[in-house]
Amino acid sequence: MDKVKGTRQQNYVSNPANGGGLHNYGLAVDVSIVDAKGDTLPMGTRVDALTSLSHIDRESELVRRGKISTEARRNRELLRMVMQKAGFRSLRSEWWHFNYTTRADAKANYRVVK
Ligand SMILES: [Zn+2]
Repeated sequence: MDKVKGTRQQNYVSNPANGGGLHNYGLAVDVSIVDAKGDTLPMGTRVDALTSLSHIDRESELVRRGKISTEARRNRELLRMVMQKAGFRSLRSEWWHFNYTTRADAKANYRVVK
């Protein structure tokens, strides 16, 4: 993943050899939120942390058990709200990942980005 500090932009295309997914169609994004200095806000884990701490359906429990902060939970909720308003859907297991459409729609109507 490329992180360009200060531009509020991240680009990520997953390797089709690793199973692919909507990233390969340009129909999914991995995003976080940064402040005016370009520093990432607390989200509980880093982007691409493939652990149960990244699951969005367990955030209440994670806060209650002290695994993520209340601030991190609020930041995740803000990110989801903004992305949902833009037409993206959340992925249960990755707070940073958002799909623009379904895999079936992607296969039927889009080409893999090369
Ligand atoms: Zn992703």
